[in-house]
Amino acid sequence: MSIRLHHIQKHFGRSQALSPIDLDVESGELIGLLGPSGSGKTTLLRIIAGLETPDDNPATQLLFGERDVTRVHVRDRRIGFVFQHYALFRHMSVFDNVAFGLTVLPRRERPSSGEIRTRVLRLLEMVQLSHLAQRFPAQLSGGQQQRVSLARALALRPEVLLLDEPFGALDAKVRQELRRWLRHLHDELGFTSVFVTHDQEEALELSDRVVVMSNGRIEQIDTPEALYRAPANRFVFEFLGDVNHLEGQVHNGLLTCGDARLRVTLPDGRHELLLRPHEATLADTPDERANLPAVVTAVVPVGAEVRVELSADWMSEPWLVAVRHQDAERLNLARGARVYARPLTWHHYPETAGQARHSERRAQTVST
Ligand code: ADP
Ligand code: MG
Repeated sequence: MSIRLHHIQKHFGRSQALSPIDLDVESGELIGLLGPSGSGKTTLLRIIAGLETPDDNPATQLLFGERDVTRVHVRDRRIGFVFQHYALFRHMSVFDNVAFGLTVLPRRERPSSGEIRTRVLRLLEMVQLSHLAQRFPAQLSGGQQQRVSLARALALRPEVLLLDEPFGALDAKVRQELRRWLRHLHDELGFTSVFVTHDQEEALELSDRVVVMSNGRIEQIDTPEALYRAPANRFVFEFLGDVNHLEGQVHNGLLTCGDARLRVTLPDGRHELLLRPHEATLADTPDERANLPAVVTAVVPVGAEVRVELSADWMSEPWLVAVRHQDAERLNLARGARVYARPLTWHHYPETAGQARHSERRAQTVST
């Protein structure tokens, strides 16, 4: 079922938690709401759920499919929820926790006890907890408890599943596993999911599309690939991964900062360039385009690449450059080695009247 939000705005007293938001979620989509703490993700999710009401405005509308649910009570929205804190019933077995929502349905909607049993057992099978059906929540690990929460949320066959940082309290490995679970269940059961996280990797790995939020606004909505390849503005670029900065004065196409030099095609004036760790390489000499001398402060092999930390007077913060293992060996990279950074490409987000979010994106490729 599709979800359409039109002009959803929210104030808490005088402070604005959400600027008017428009968002269309397609039926069967898994959407990730990504943003730093306080950006309004939970508020938006709670409004979709009906746990929070948006500001009163004639333009405000929330549609589930063709149905206008703007004023429909949470219990009539047919939504499944999963929150960070498991909130399982401690005195009930795993089986009873999953069955609970079905057993309290009004009589005419309630399945027979035989059918409830079949449905719960099937759900427990899907989250691979059949063997623990008679355990109590306290006898389960955090990851298992969260799988019970997921099964419980799905018992009522919701068409919409809302998840608020559901794996936030779990360790990295369990989180990874649960992400795969969620993706799998989502695809198998065909519901529409909105998933809140502040973890970029989680959002990029799991979502069909990611909604990046900051300060109660949507900064960008895109597929993970498009988001990473073409961030709409500086906020998105910086939020999505490690960034190296080079700020300096440009004169006649030459950017200067301390003893650093880089040929650029930018007008004269002060500019800041941004680049990701894999958007630069290292060499033992400068070339005619780039003279960016630095000292290696750390060399960390991470999987297929080597992450090299650099320091120099012209940097405001240390740089991180990802190089191939063979290049690290060829350059004899070790702590204390003197090297030259060579940008392969860079990004530039001119600020217009102090509003970074309206800035255009401009990327310059420098061939090596
Ligand atoms: P996120 O989930 O992205 O961390 P929230 O939606 O929880 O962000 O919060 C957005 C903003 O709204 C924050 O500034 C937060 O302090 C404020 N806020 C959220 N809920 C309430 C509330 N019930 N009362 C007052 N302010 C709130
Ligand atoms: Mg939140």
